[in-house]
Amino acid sequence: MWDPDLGHETQLPRSGDDILAVGWLGKGHDFPCGEVRSEDLARLKEFVRRRSESMLRLLGGVFAGVHTCEICERCHGASNIAVLDGRRLWIAPEMITHYVEAHEYLPPASFLEALSLCPLPDSDEYQELAASFLRNRVQDSHAAAD
Ligand SMILES: [Zn+2]
Repeated sequence: MWDPDLGHETQLPRSGDDILAVGWLGKGHDFPCGEVRSEDLARLKEFVRRRSESMLRLLGGVFAGVHTCEICERCHGASNIAVLDGRRLWIAPEMITHYVEAHEYLPPASFLEALSLCPLPDSDEYQELAASFLRNRVQDSHAAAD
């Protein structure tokens, strides 16, 4: 289940340089610790609350099965969240809030910045951003195939 932060392996059926994994912590793998600003944590929780509205289903659906926190084995989660800007997409497990609160995990600064700017998943702005991200990717893959 472990993936390095900002690695390109996610559980999505698609991958690419513009899709980044964040917060896939696993036992035996060090992770960065530090203080996450309360507004960033609150924002993260908003995304988790709206996870069913996130763009993952547009990407072909992601269901990883129930995952247990490998560090304390006391928290479980099955969903993911998607944060995006115009060019990149970050995929994080819903348990990322648990990792921050219980284990002092500090997500990458680029992710936190994108999180603060990304519209909430149940907004029209988010859905438009997600649709245009996917459209651009389809165009890119066509261009690459030519
Ligand atoms: Zn834990």
